[in-house]
Amino acid sequence: ENYHAVLTENRKLFNELQELKGNIRVFCRVRPFLPSQGAPNTVVEYVGDDGELVVTNPTRLGKDGLRQFRFNKVYSPSATQADVFTDIKPLVRSVLDGFNVCIFAYGQTGSGKTYTMTGPDDSSEEDWGVNYRALNDLFKISQSRKGNINYEVGVQMVEIYNEQCVAILFLVCLDLHTLGILSTTSQNGLAVPDASMFPVTSTSDVITLMDIGLQNRAVGSTALNERSSRSHSIVTVHVRGTDTKTGSVLYGNLHLVDLAGSERVDRSEVKGDRLREAQHINKSLSSLGDVIFSLASKSSHIPYRNSKLTQILQSSLGGRAKTLMFVQLNPDATSYSESMSTLKFAERVSGVELGAAKSSK
Ligand code: ADP
Repeated sequence: ENYHAVLTENRKLFNELQELKGNIRVFCRVRPFLPSQGAPNTVVEYVGDDGELVVTNPTRLGKDGLRQFRFNKVYSPSATQADVFTDIKPLVRSVLDGFNVCIFAYGQTGSGKTYTMTGPDDSSEEDWGVNYRALNDLFKISQSRKGNINYEVGVQMVEIYNEQCVAILFLVCLDLHTLGILSTTSQNGLAVPDASMFPVTSTSDVITLMDIGLQNRAVGSTALNERSSRSHSIVTVHVRGTDTKTGSVLYGNLHLVDLAGSERVDRSEVKGDRLREAQHINKSLSSLGDVIFSLASKSSHIPYRNSKLTQILQSSLGGRAKTLMFVQLNPDATSYSESMSTLKFAERVSGVELGAAKSSK
């Protein structure tokens, strides 16, 4: 009884806050145990259909160790890539109606960010992550509207490493007569040098080229996994639609962001390059948190200028833009403290803090 009263109260609070916040959503995804992890020892106590998540502190069993969170959605480990995309499809499609949308994956290395955004290595269509599904969907819909609204679509891949922005790839797609919407020299005034540009006419072209782009990321770095966990990767889809009857033009863009691993690095243990990387990652992730928090709390000053990441994404954060953050969790007990700091970051950006769970399910 008491528990239900608390939950109802929390839900009311959550819904009120959600109204205030407008266009910021947080979805939490718990990844499954991997065969390599040995016997499962999970900290995830409960996942509710309504976005509730209860985690247990493995060193404080019983009620004292329970912590309750509420997000817009929580996915249990059994959720499929298709389940996830079904929920975000309307958001992705709104880009074709002239909205700017930003989708992030946040979490410690190994928590499933790349799985959610891209999918596993050599994925079949069933395993495709958000990036491929979004592109595929946008292509299909823009083709089906042809004649009523004619779309031009460009795709760009960029990586931010140590506050340096490196363009990996430009794709120019679908009836693109002018390159007006794509500029190699300006992303909110920032130079994005040396992008390769390719014309493409189908989704499979895009996928082939994106795979090449992902491979390009590995060039010059010791190991792809190592490097990619310490850089932010951004796929941007630029869209321009012309209404054939009225001649009016709309612009939309979609940023799909696989963030650097959020794990705290023990500063006493690392020096040189690793220390510098860690400092840059900390700075950009906390700047991102500050920007989203300021937007959610309707602050008059939004600190976009504090990192390359927030500068590049500025047009897609705030105003009419829609933001979604996937907060990724590794459910293993050994990741408990990283998971808690991930969840606290998520609470902060979502503006909803519920505190200790009063009771378990
Ligand atoms: P990150 O990008 O956060 O470092 P990855 O996406 O590389 O993490 O995921 C780590 C490992 O877990 C990979 O082997 C990945 O295939 C696997 N994995 C992550 N999420 C899932 C999931 N939902 N289902 C199955 N395997 C997953």
